[in-house]
Amino acid sequence: MYDTIVIGAGPAGMTAALYAARANLKVATLEQGAPGGQMNNTSDIENYPGFESISGPELSMKMFEPLEKLGVENLYGIVSGIEDRGNYKVVKTGDEEYQTKTVIIATGAKHRHIGVAGEEEYNSRGVSYCAVCDGAFFRNQDLLVVGGGDSAVEEGIYLTRFANSVTIVHRRDELRAQKVLQARAFANEKVKFIWDSVVEEIKGDDIKVRSVDIKNVKTGEVTNHEFGGVFVYVGLDPVSDYLTGLDITDQNGWVITDDKMATSVPGIFAIGDVRQKDLRQITTAVGEGAIAGIEAYNYVTALGDK
Ligand code: FAD
Ligand code: NAP
Repeated sequence: MYDTIVIGAGPAGMTAALYAARANLKVATLEQGAPGGQMNNTSDIENYPGFESISGPELSMKMFEPLEKLGVENLYGIVSGIEDRGNYKVVKTGDEEYQTKTVIIATGAKHRHIGVAGEEEYNSRGVSYCAVCDGAFFRNQDLLVVGGGDSAVEEGIYLTRFANSVTIVHRRDELRAQKVLQARAFANEKVKFIWDSVVEEIKGDDIKVRSVDIKNVKTGEVTNHEFGGVFVYVGLDPVSDYLTGLDITDQNGWVITDDKMATSVPGIFAIGDVRQKDLRQITTAVGEGAIAGIEAYNYVTALGDK
């Protein structure tokens, strides 16, 4: 029986594990991949206090190393469900079931697709959701980035390291991204913009993406543009499908908590990007992780077990 199982080892989950382990709880993280979560797909992080700039994988390792020293068990598995049995919970993967007094949900969010013709057909053949993973495959090409938020602008700038040009197509005439990123994009000679427009269809041949039909939402005009690759950054959906039955999410799947990170099920907490909230950042993820780690300790203590 664990005191707490943290599902997901992104920045939120790793911080929760750190605080819970330092409170002397028996802690495991249950992660389907490498520790770090979305940070592993981020080139340069420039808004995490203490570092002027640090690569995502490096920050991931800096967060992970103390957990091993504190005796946190790092279990591998894709969680498929959580069962509430009152004073304890059962966390299920395909092969295993783990018993724990508390659960901290930290499974983050995944990239939303735009849902246009050609997007799935050319996924991994020119359509990508990760500039850090795939950018180097697009050297000297003209690339399209879809979206107007932090991800589209930041990753668009990153792609200029490899690409001939990067065009950001946005459905409005004003970016949602932070001003500092906007200024950097506007100053970059390789970055161009197509405003008030959406992707209508991604086209290609048997091998890869060759062009994209883009529709101006104000005039309705559709024009075809040659691009060697399309990077989609149109927002996130929560990774919470496996929570069905617990009734702790809103209608879009974001987990609802109070300011102690507690869900409506006693002993089950949620933190990080998977929560219903406004600001999805590494700083907010780690702050919530700290709260949940301590709240898990308080819960276990109240059970009379510590
Ligand atoms: P995640 O980092 O998403 O981690 C969730 C973890 O849960 C993953 O490791 C995943 O494998 C695991 N998981 C999911 N489902 C399961 C399951 N069923 N079973 C087991 N494990 C599971 N924020 C900043 O502050 N600065 C930045 O510069 C910055 N750049 C970004 C760039 C991009 C392209 C993106 C998409 C985001 C960026 N962000 C940035 C936002 C930041 O990465 C997130 O807010 C943060 O990673 C959220 O942390 P998390 O731990 O909640 O979730
Ligand atoms: P986001 O902030 O939700 O932005 C999504 C963008 O895509 C918006 O500009 C939106 O347009 C557009 N969009 C949504 N659906 C669309 C569709 N169907 N077709 C065309 N465009 C569509 O998502 P994000 O940029 O991925 O960021 C996610 C979170 O991670 C945010 O909290 C962000 O702050 C954080 N993040 C932070 C950093 C950083 O701090 N450096 C970097 C990356 C991400 P509208 O603007 O019109 O809504």
